[in-house]
Order: sequence, then structure tokens, then C-alpha cells
Amino acid sequence: MNIPKSKFPRIVIIGGGFAGVNLAKSLANKDLQVVLLDKHNYHTFQPLLYQVSSSGLEPDSIAYPLRKIIKKHKNSFFRLAEVDYIHADKNEITTSIGALSYDYLVIATGTKTNYFGSKSIEANSMPMKSVPQALNIRSLILQNFEKAAIANSEKERQAYLNFVIVGGGPTGVELAGAIAELKNHILPRDYKDLNSSDMQIHLLEGANRVLPPMSEHASKKAEGFLQTLGVHVHTNVFVKDYDGKLVTTNSDLKLHTETLIWAAGVTGSPIHGLKAESMLERANRYKVNRFNQIEGYHTIFALGDIASMSTENYPNGHPQVAQPAIQQGKLLGKNLMRFIKNQSPKPFTYKDKGSMATIGRNKAVVDLKHFKFGGFFAWFIWMFIHLMSLVGFRNRVIVFFNWSYNYINFDKAARLIIRPFKK
Ligand SMILES: Cc1cc2nc3c(=O)[nH]c(=O)nc-3n(C[C@H](O)[C@H](O)[C@H](O)COP(=O)(O)OP(=O)(O)OC[C@H]3O[C@@H](n4cnc5c(N)ncnc54)[C@H](O)[C@@H]3O)c2cc1C
Repeated sequence: MNIPKSKFPRIVIIGGGFAGVNLAKSLANKDLQVVLLDKHNYHTFQPLLYQVSSSGLEPDSIAYPLRKIIKKHKNSFFRLAEVDYIHADKNEITTSIGALSYDYLVIATGTKTNYFGSKSIEANSMPMKSVPQALNIRSLILQNFEKAAIANSEKERQAYLNFVIVGGGPTGVELAGAIAELKNHILPRDYKDLNSSDMQIHLLEGANRVLPPMSEHASKKAEGFLQTLGVHVHTNVFVKDYDGKLVTTNSDLKLHTETLIWAAGVTGSPIHGLKAESMLERANRYKVNRFNQIEGYHTIFALGDIASMSTENYPNGHPQVAQPAIQQGKLLGKNLMRFIKNQSPKPFTYKDKGSMATIGRNKAVVDLKHFKFGGFFAWFIWMFIHLMSLVGFRNRVIVFFNWSYNYINFDKAARLIIRPFKK
């Protein structure tokens, strides 16, 4: 791997997501060697993937080169590598580019899409966990519009214009709102050969309300916003199967569609090699203590979505959102220095800053600890927080410019099929 020997302990971080990047930053220029590994050469700002899928943003405005993040860290190295095995007995990992030894290992590999065992849904639906997947969705939506414009029958046209999103969590709700904006503002202008009222967006949720992790107030408001935009919301509905043409559910609802977007859940993305007892099987997450040490290991840690830390307030682990990952990454940086100096580490306590979701222009819901609200002000807060959370000044400027342009012109300018999606 061409990593030089060092007189300092080597910390290997697997994953340059929110957790891994914040850990790497907090270890910058300390008396240790940091090696950051990721299978992508960029950090992905996942909360805005849905805007790439719906042509609102270009992909490079929500991704950021990992080498650039650590360029000023004299003690840090990046390698583009997929890690596939941990040999804890000899403090070594094997990767797609060779083996690497470590003194401390940190696993921050996040999650992958959970299809709950359905092979046909996995084969035929569209996941949205990465930039390439978001671009696939963008291409498919635009290709479907083109195919609908030349369809031979009403049935065929309707299948191209039916968009089904499974999962009424923040991702599904935000995407449904953004696709509804394509229907309401783009289709009537760009696709004069189509009748925009033929385009139907269905959002399917297994629970009895959308945004189940948020308050009932937020769910009600979000559902109202979605209905105003023309989205059909179906609650208490589980998808049973999708063969690429027909969605069948646990109810009478059956939908003919060429596009099923799967936002129904995630499962951990662990790495082979550690003891089975260190995993929480139902969630595929590593069991960690309050210092993020994986159960049964002293020098191996897990952070963010892949870590399950059971505390009094969060007996089933913290929510799989950005804030726990960021906060754990920052604290582990300080704790690793304490471990190295034989000092006592500080236990992690999650500071919940609230949650939010946006449902198209001027519409969002925000849940704070003592205050819940929705509408224009919530939307403004949502935009400000997401803008400021993006990595890199350039990305913030580009996203701000795009949002302003789209807002003024009711436009989504990235309507390009650059790399056609083949089913
Ligand atoms: C579509 C979507 C929308 C979201 N919206 C929000 C939101 O609005 N607000 C919010 O708070 N949270 C949101 N989340 C959740 C949030 O993005 C995650 O909680 C957060 O990214 C977790 O950070 P992490 O560092 O644990 O993992 P990630 O950010 O997922 O990073 C994991 C990294 O590990 C790398 N990796 C994985 N396996 C390997 C391997 N074997 N070898 C090398 N590298 C590997 C990946 O390439 C990736 O870079 C959203 C998630 C998605 C998918």
C-alpha cells in the first residue's frame, strides 16, 4: 500500500463518511499515523442525494474528494481501497489493494440498502445510497419521460409515468416531493407532448403515518404537503413483490410501473472477520461500549451507522443519522489520544439536535426538543442547515446558486441523461 513506517501508532479508519471524516479531522497533525481507506475517493453528503436523483443538483456539488479533506494533515494518508477482511489476531486487514497492519482500527462503513430478503425487489428496484445510484434514478426518470412521449398505448405510457417510492421516512418523503415538482413545473414546459396529469407519484409506507421517526405533528403536516403536491400517500402498505412491471402489496393495491424506488430501509455494512458475538444480528451493527470499542476487542472501534451503542435513552442504539456519526467521530479522536497516553476516555452522550424533512419548495417540517413547526420558516431553516453542513466552500456556493436559480425559475437544471440507465 506504500504507507511508510512511522515511530507513532497507526490508526486505520475504514470509511470516509460523516463518522470517518470527523475522526480523521480530529486526529490531524497529532503524534500518530492516520490511514483513511474508502472504496470511493470522495465523501458523499447523503442527505442531498435525492436532489441529484430529481435533477435539482449536479452530483459533484454533494461529493467532496477525501484527499482534499486531509491534504493539510501531515500525518495522514488516503488509499482508495475496499476492505474485505479483518484479522484481529494479527492486527491486520486485507483490502482490494493489499494488506495493512494497524495499532488501532476504526470501522465506519455505514449501511447498505435493506431489501428484507426479496431477490426480485433487489433485482428490479432502484436504491438511493450512493452518487452512482442517484444518477441511475435521474437517468431512469428522464428516460421514462422520453419513452412515455412515444408510447404506443395508454397502458404503456401510464407505466412510464407511474413513479412508486417505497418507504415514507425522510428520504422517501423528500424524494416524492422533489419528483412532484418535476411533474408540476417541468413536465408542462418541457414535455408538451405529454399530459402532466397522467404522471402519478405513489408513496408507500408500512407504518400508519409517513415520517415515523418524527412527531405526529410533523407526519400530519408532511402528509398534507405531499397531498397538495399531488402525491398519493398509502400508509399501512407493505410491498410484497416487484417483477420490474407490477408492484404487489399486502392490500388490494397493485401498481403498474417501470420505476420503483426503494427507500424502505438500511442494514449495517460490516466487514468479515470479527467474532459473531460482536454483532447485533437483527441490525447488522457492531455492539460497542460508550467509548465505541467493539465488544470483545480493545483496539477495534466502530462509529456512526454501523455502531450500536445501547444507552439508557437509546436502548436499541442511536438513530442512523448524521449527527451521532459526527459526534462519535469527534469524541473518538480525543479518546484515542487518551488511550494512547494511558488516560481515561470520556463516555459518549448523544446530543440530539432535532430532525427535519423538506417536501418541495417552501415546505418542510422541523422537530426540536421543545418546539415543532412546519411551513416556510421550517424550509428556510432546512436549507440553511443543509447548506452549512456541506463539505467545502465551493460546494456550498454551487448549491446556493443552484437553489436560488431553481427557486426563481421553478427549474431543475440538471435534466441530463449523461449515462443512460439500462434495466
Ligand atoms: C438517501 C439518504 C438520505 C439521508 N438523509 C439524511 C438526513 O437528511 N439527515 C441525516 O441526519 N441523515 C440522513 N441520512 C443518514 C446519514 O447519511 C447517515 O446516518 C450517515 O451518512 C452515517 O455516517 P457514517 O459515517 O456512519 O456512514 P456513511 O456516511 O454511509 O459512510 C460510510 C463510508 O464507508 C465506505 N465504505 C463502506 N464499506 C467499505 C469497505 N468495505 N471498504 C472501504 N470503504 C467502505 C463508503 O464508501 C462510505 O464512504 C440519509 C441517508 C441516505 C442514504
